[in-house]
Amino acid sequence: MENHESMKTTTYLLICLLILGNNNAIGQTLKAERKVIVLDAGHGGIDSGTVSRNGLQEKDVVLDIVRQMKVWNRILFESKYDIYLTRRKDTLISLTDRTKLVKHLKPDVFISLHCNHINDSNIQGAEIYTYDSNELSLLYAKTILNKLNQDLGFKTRKPRKGNFQVLRETKEHCPALLLELGYLSNSSESHYLNGSQNRKALALSILMSI
Ligand SMILES: [Zn+2]
Repeated sequence: MENHESMKTTTYLLICLLILGNNNAIGQTLKAERKVIVLDAGHGGIDSGTVSRNGLQEKDVVLDIVRQMKVWNRILFESKYDIYLTRRKDTLISLTDRTKLVKHLKPDVFISLHCNHINDSNIQGAEIYTYDSNELSLLYAKTILNKLNQDLGFKTRKPRKGNFQVLRETKEHCPALLLELGYLSNSSESHYLNGSQNRKALALSILMSI
């Protein structure tokens, strides 16, 4: 993603700020139906997750994005969503503890955020895993992927099924997704994810899909 993509990021953020910033009613009309969202930034602490060639760590990328989603929720949506994070800092939390929060809250949606890595550095694109073909999970998955592509030109791949613990243990409680936000093994995507403006735009796009 070259310069025109960062232009796209900036334009996207500006348009969203204008539209949402001027719409004071949005928070009030929707507060009555506050959706509960649990966001899980993968890895943390000694577990850095995947690391790009220039040292960008998955655990930092995903933590920044979930934090930014909380910020957008507060400043643009007047806290329309109740957002809970499985981790707020650079700490390692067990998968069981991450899913405990979901079982307790029974949110409207649970999203675990990650970045991908593969030996073939040409491969790129965001992917979403669901445990099975749960209709609502698939609807969230498709909506998020479409929006990432339309809003930001982010390459996307088809939703896939994945037997991940965080999905397996939460599927009975809410729609559950594991979002892989691009490949840190791909130089174009790792460069994109390294930009804080781009991460803000990704956070906003995901939040608006929900
Ligand atoms: Zn991961």
